[in-house]
Amino acid sequence: SLKHKVAIIGSGNWGSTIGKIVAENAKEHKKLFETTIVMWAFEEDVDVPNDPGLWEKLGAGPVKLSHAINTVHQNIKYLPGVRLPDNLVANSNLQDTVKDATILVFNLPHQFLSMTLSQINGYHRPYARGISCIKGVDVADGTVTLYSEMVMEKLQIYCCALSGANIAPEVVAEKFCETTIGYDSPPMDYKERDGSPRDNRVKVDEQRQSNSKPTHIKLSPIPKEYPPVESSLLKTLFERPYFQVHVVRDVAGVALGGALKNIIALAAGFVTGKKWGENTKAAIVRIGVLEMVEFGRTWFSKSVDERTFTEESAGMADLIASCNAGRNYRSALRSVEKGVPIEEIEETELGGQKLQGISTARAVHEFLSKEGKLDKFPLFASVYEIIENHQSVEKLPSLLRKDPKAQ
Ligand code: NAD
Ligand code: 13P
Repeated sequence: SLKHKVAIIGSGNWGSTIGKIVAENAKEHKKLFETTIVMWAFEEDVDVPNDPGLWEKLGAGPVKLSHAINTVHQNIKYLPGVRLPDNLVANSNLQDTVKDATILVFNLPHQFLSMTLSQINGYHRPYARGISCIKGVDVADGTVTLYSEMVMEKLQIYCCALSGANIAPEVVAEKFCETTIGYDSPPMDYKERDGSPRDNRVKVDEQRQSNSKPTHIKLSPIPKEYPPVESSLLKTLFERPYFQVHVVRDVAGVALGGALKNIIALAAGFVTGKKWGENTKAAIVRIGVLEMVEFGRTWFSKSVDERTFTEESAGMADLIASCNAGRNYRSALRSVEKGVPIEEIEETELGGQKLQGISTARAVHEFLSKEGKLDKFPLFASVYEIIENHQSVEKLPSLLRKDPKAQ
């Protein structure tokens, strides 16, 4: 049988980490996957860190990022100091990266996904399957779209989601953690009673409720020479001894957990910046999880399983990790310490890495305000007011004093 060819779309801090994981597994499961994993690198000139070994091979720089990754097997800008597997190959040509792939792993900051999908469209295999490791939600015309759904709509391929308490530098150092894959068999995998495949011109939601909205896609069947892309195959592709995968059917819950926790992590950063202590931060986490559940219950009741927020790595566990060590948390903390906007910290202290919490807070605020439900989400609303400078961080406790449970 044919082997799956996996491409990683994105090569940032998490993209490169997932690239390492997938490359390690491709090497171990040679019957299922092509050993070479191609990772699209958005091309840019990068400085070479002050390291004699790197200077010997790359010169003093600047050098192209893809050249650096392929020469020294290190992402010297976004994941410096980490040796990447030899079978993880960077490619700066997006169309070339996706053209033969049967599995597309989307892993880039959410603000770049839409444009990247437009560039991929037409160059990918119609029967490819996608998995989104992206944290965030898109709001347009008052509708929330998950990034897994954006991939489905724009490329007409099935896409599931992976999210968890996965701070990249810890994962890449192979410290034990868990993650959640939200996967639900796409309709193509369903058969009529007589065994014939269903008409593939389906509304995804007619078959199941695991993504959030009816997405009209025309799924192409995967040629039967390939092993079927099911949750067990995805588990094999992502699970490592240090990276435990739990699969749930709830794609929307996994995607929403990863998105909403970034708003809450900003609030946790404000609290630590103000030196208000651990009790206050615990209050933020508690209120945050309630707002996540309420958000899922109100707008995704048919698709979300609330237990994803409370029991899975993509929910509570990611919230805890992100509120202690994530970039959104750390940047919000620094912004309070220095008295500057968070965007300035992102610009000056993150080495080109991108925050997801600010744009998610804005998107969620736009949606809640259109729905007339801001009062039900005091934490999400307060974070927006603070980042937009409508309220001072000082006011956070008073803005939260109303318990959403009591409303
Ligand atoms: P990152 O913060 O390292 O961002 C840098 C990436 O953005 C680089 O790959 C860069 O090439 C790319 N980029 C910059 N400009 C671009 C453009 N115009 N077009 C396309 N790409 C461009 O990214 P990351 O940490 O890999 O995050 C990717 C996703 O993974 C995010 O949604 C994030 O929330 C999620 N995530 C991150 C972590 C983590 O610890 N870093 C953990 C879990 C999930
Ligand atoms: P940050 O983007 O805030 O670093 O969060 C990383 C993450 O999602 C850990 O699970």
